[in-house]
Amino acid sequence: MSGYNPYAPPNQQQQAPLGSQFRPPVAPSPYQQQSGTPYGQAPPNGQQSQYGGTPYSGYQGQGGASQEQGYFPPQGQVGPGNDGAVGGLSAQMGNMGLGDEGPAISRPNKKKNRHAYHNLDQPTPSPGAFSSIQQNQQPYRTTDLSQQATTPYGAQPITPAMNQFPAPAGTPFSPNLQPGGSVFGAPSQQPMPAPSGPGVSAQGRVDPEQIPSVPLSRDAAAKYYLEHIYPTIDQHLPPPASVPFVAFDQGNSSPKYARLTLNNIPSTSEALAASGLPLGMVLQPLAPLQEGEEKIPVLDFGETGPPRCRRCRTYINPFMTFRSGGNKLVCNMCTFPNDVAPEYFAPTDPTGVRVDRAQRPELTLGTVEFMVPKEYWAKEPVGLRWLFLIDVSQEALNRGFLEAFCNGVVRALYDNDDDQEDADYEKIDDEDPMSKRSIPLGAKVGFVAYDKAMHYFNCNAKLDQAQMLVMPDVEDPFVPLGSDGLFVDPYESKSVIVSLLQRLPALFSAMRTPEPALLPTLDSALSALLATGGKIVCSLSALPTWGPGSLFMRDEGKLHGIETEKKLFQTEHPGWKKTAGKMVESGIGVDLFIASASGGYMDVATIGHISAATGGETYFYPNYVAPRDSEKLGLDIKRSLTRETGYQALMKVRCSNGLQVASYHGNFIQHTFGADLELGVIDADKAMGVMFSYDGKLDSKLDAHFQCALLYTTAGGERRVRCTNTVASVSEGASMESMRFIDQDAVVSMCAREAATRMTERTLKDIRNALTEKTIDILAGYRKSFSTSHPPGQLVLPENLKEFSMYMLGLLKSRAFKAGSEPSDRRTHSMRMIKSMSALELSLFLYPRIIPIHNLTPEDGFPNETGHLQVPPSIRASFSRIEDGGAYLVDDGQVCLLWLHANVSPNLLEDLFGPDKNSLQSLDPMLSSLPVLETHLNAQVRNLLAYWSSVRGSKALTVQLARQGLDGSEYEFARLLFEDRNNDAQSYVDWLVHVHRMIQMELSGQRKKDDGGDGGGVMETTMAGIANLRPPW
Ligand SMILES: [Zn+2]
Repeated sequence: MSGYNPYAPPNQQQQAPLGSQFRPPVAPSPYQQQSGTPYGQAPPNGQQSQYGGTPYSGYQGQGGASQEQGYFPPQGQVGPGNDGAVGGLSAQMGNMGLGDEGPAISRPNKKKNRHAYHNLDQPTPSPGAFSSIQQNQQPYRTTDLSQQATTPYGAQPITPAMNQFPAPAGTPFSPNLQPGGSVFGAPSQQPMPAPSGPGVSAQGRVDPEQIPSVPLSRDAAAKYYLEHIYPTIDQHLPPPASVPFVAFDQGNSSPKYARLTLNNIPSTSEALAASGLPLGMVLQPLAPLQEGEEKIPVLDFGETGPPRCRRCRTYINPFMTFRSGGNKLVCNMCTFPNDVAPEYFAPTDPTGVRVDRAQRPELTLGTVEFMVPKEYWAKEPVGLRWLFLIDVSQEALNRGFLEAFCNGVVRALYDNDDDQEDADYEKIDDEDPMSKRSIPLGAKVGFVAYDKAMHYFNCNAKLDQAQMLVMPDVEDPFVPLGSDGLFVDPYESKSVIVSLLQRLPALFSAMRTPEPALLPTLDSALSALLATGGKIVCSLSALPTWGPGSLFMRDEGKLHGIETEKKLFQTEHPGWKKTAGKMVESGIGVDLFIASASGGYMDVATIGHISAATGGETYFYPNYVAPRDSEKLGLDIKRSLTRETGYQALMKVRCSNGLQVASYHGNFIQHTFGADLELGVIDADKAMGVMFSYDGKLDSKLDAHFQCALLYTTAGGERRVRCTNTVASVSEGASMESMRFIDQDAVVSMCAREAATRMTERTLKDIRNALTEKTIDILAGYRKSFSTSHPPGQLVLPENLKEFSMYMLGLLKSRAFKAGSEPSDRRTHSMRMIKSMSALELSLFLYPRIIPIHNLTPEDGFPNETGHLQVPPSIRASFSRIEDGGAYLVDDGQVCLLWLHANVSPNLLEDLFGPDKNSLQSLDPMLSSLPVLETHLNAQVRNLLAYWSSVRGSKALTVQLARQGLDGSEYEFARLLFEDRNNDAQSYVDWLVHVHRMIQMELSGQRKKDDGGDGGGVMETTMAGIANLRPPW
């Protein structure tokens, strides 16, 4: 099965070369707006010839004809207003620079400033750089992706500066980039970008066609990074978070692990304050790798552990320097000159570089892992113990949730298909493909069913059937079973476990207890895992109303919109808080799968507190319907079980002198300020934010350094520290350099996380006001400092923050913060998700990707000649972009809707869903995936879905139908059209007009801030004295 290609058409494992039918290697302009709508406009005959159930092989002969009948315009026939010539297009795009100051950029003639240590002489990947691929001006160090995928560390000199690492303190980054800024409003004397570039309006108004487009900038970047790697030092502005890319670690960590808001930091807090920007970092320490990226090396320094700075405890990293012939190790955070231990000594060469540097990953890579000796242990590390707590109460049985959950666990443990191919797990039996492990050797599983009582199962492999031991005492529960019987190897006990999970619904079908006792069950599970730590996976399908910790209906809608509403977003129950605290202390974390039948209240705030505090995740199915949602539940369980997971974790971020950690935002426990973050569990999908403040002035001759150290036990049972090292340049005062290296995703992410943190302290109105003011502060700050030459009537957006306003509007419209009525369960769930989401997942959450599937080109959804899936351009999230008769895929990383216009072509429906499915009414509203058909369209859409599911985040992708005028999920579709006026907030255009007006008032000194009394500087004032804190490890 290893050769299986998920993107291949149904009948052909290997894609036949399509030759001339593919587009020429020059990619089409990402700026063109598609106008052809074969299903909406072409005559019926034309439709039949395109989608008459044509199987893929038969399709090839007529591809050319199809294209002429209204598919995507072929290369050269770009949108109206262009001259149509390929050469002209390239030239135009080269000049356009995505709204940068247009013709001012002339990359080919850029002079190369060679720096001794950091070579930054190639264009950094501002969006403007993406067009370089079309111009065939490959920067000399940018390597073809396909080569890179096989030999990222090969002999090719992609990083000539590598052997000169580490950079001695004092070498500043001095990237070259033209200042950027999109100009809106009245035409100025500035040379304008090409007509189809965003940002210009001749009428002096904000033109909906011209305002910055999230889809355009994502698509352009995605195209660029299909062909280019991201070298982490040569380039210093990360790709947009939603875009897949292959990073090449040059000593600075991949942005997948750490994204700074500013990759060039102003030297003073005053300069930062003037910019309005947060100085922060989004960390996702266990982020998954993309195919083609090198595994993180695991280094073992034996009993001594990894070398660290004696003064500040920073771990060895590529930016520490050696002096005195290799005898002194100078810390890059605190500049302390440490003695080098004899066992770690190696001489330096005449340039001051250790002779063994090339053989030492800790001196060359930004992200490494160290094995750690006993002093770093809290407990003897063992393989991760997974304890499943399965709700067997009445509602779980009635709703089919129990059955789906059990099936999901069986599939997750034993049904290893190709997507597990790259997992690094040992096989216990090479003969049997089913024996391939979902969880690593050493990890064990245990099962408890609960309703009013707890039912423990002994799944020892020697038994014919699992033995059940009942623990009815909810007041003082204990574990009625030794851990040998409770925790078993899931592969040795496979038959016992599979049989148990299959029988479970029948076993409890006679009892049908209505009230589950959840907190006692969690307490009992806590004692079962007390000695080792571990991970709990818990299902729940009714409000737990039995025994200690029983909950009641808190949200009756009366508190919505008033001051005390925030009480609903947190737990007030001391018992739940206590259990969560004890779990973290014991190295235990919880993933919850909560189904709410008919949208009933589940007190997610209280129950979900358990997973939020312990570093776990809450999966919430607000209106669970078994036929539709079982597939998603099963896939979510699988992800929860198979993603990289660690437990008993501590995290700490260190930074250079002059900076200090101001606050952390995420789901964890921090007992006192300055203490390490404590996480019962951590997994690949979890991210957190760190805010920094100044405790002095930064030296602009030095770089600023950051190191995140995550101490954790792997699921395989090894105690390790993962170090994520990040570097930024420093510029004197308020500098355009800082503006050139803003990471928009990180800025949005920090604003979102901070706002989510305050949801339990402030009213929602205050938070919305603060987010609005923040948006204005940042854009006005730029206007005041860096674009004074523009007439005051113009809206000027920094190049790297072009879509910032849109993302902030998406945040204002999110379920967490939106105005209007919203059940507290959903608000709380969204708020906690925002706190722990990766930058990728958040980006989609704040602006969904939408592609039309009624006018795909024949090549869309299939690999192109370089083997990459050709993804059609996405469209703006606005109903004005929806075409009559259209069909659209909409994905916000949580749900994926297939929206079908009422006038959609019957042929399209048949091609997509099969014969006889030729009307909206004939479709099954409960479907969660597409059938596998031999039509071209069906294969295209399934391929695109498979691709999306691989670049998404923590939630599994299944399809939900949204038929115009038929399905309730149509409301969700309308909600996700964030550019429209909806969710009790403005349209994107109106929002920009508002922001623009407020900026003008700010510039003329007339703005009154409305931040709801939210000081904004609260964080900084409480942070004194952190500099001397030492972590215990
Ligand atoms: Zn130090």
